[in-house]
Amino acid sequence: MVYNCIKWIQDGLYPARCLLCGAEGADGFDLCQACRQELPHNHNACPRCALPLPAGAPATQRCGACRQHPPAFDRCLTPLLYQPPLDLLVGGLKFHGKLGYGRLLSRLMADYLERMLADDVPELIIPIPLHPTRLRSRGYNQALELARPLERRLGIPVTPFSCRRHKNTAPQVDQALEGRHSNISGAFQITGKIQARHVALVDDVVTTGSTVAELARTLKRAGVKRVDVWAAARTPSSTPSQSGAKRISDTG
Ligand SMILES: [Zn+2]
Ligand SMILES: [Zn+2]
Repeated sequence: MVYNCIKWIQDGLYPARCLLCGAEGADGFDLCQACRQELPHNHNACPRCALPLPAGAPATQRCGACRQHPPAFDRCLTPLLYQPPLDLLVGGLKFHGKLGYGRLLSRLMADYLERMLADDVPELIIPIPLHPTRLRSRGYNQALELARPLERRLGIPVTPFSCRRHKNTAPQVDQALEGRHSNISGAFQITGKIQARHVALVDDVVTTGSTVAELARTLKRAGVKRVDVWAAARTPSSTPSQSGAKRISDTG
């Protein structure tokens, strides 16, 4: 209540500005109407891995890769594609301390998740942990920055310390397909009892999917029955250079 009052006064005094073009924000967003409409939405994605499906394919159909080798996670939901301006927003959050970009991305995720989840709601949110060395140098975990507002908005608790990353892996996109599994294998460790049957992992971008799949495998070995993945953006293929956006890795 107090927070809402303060926010209302702040919004009146300092209306939101578009983080992309500086025009006045619309509907309380830090984006103007035009920039919001131009965001690359991930329509018609594979329900399992969120990879965009070919034009005309039914949205209930899984992509060829998921039909051949289903990933260890059960469902992936990403509202946006990793194409410009997502490289700017994700890169700003991840590498330049722009936490306001994280709040915007989290809000876009929450709007999408509210539409998509129906009764299929996880009991717990786990942000993908960073290796302690990376966390120390960055000062924050961008996945936790996305997860906290989701906790408040969706009413699902976040548990940031239930697992840790004890292997500082090389970027997954730098690995040949066959090397990705061994690079990330054993990277995570469960550090506490996970009191949930169904959890959602939160990350900024899903690129190869290997990182989230490895944590999903680790959680399932610890007894979790279902693992979903929520990210702000999905690269349209596992070779992000083809997306027109600045290259990104899903190593953290
Ligand atoms: Zn704008
Ligand atoms: Zn798929």
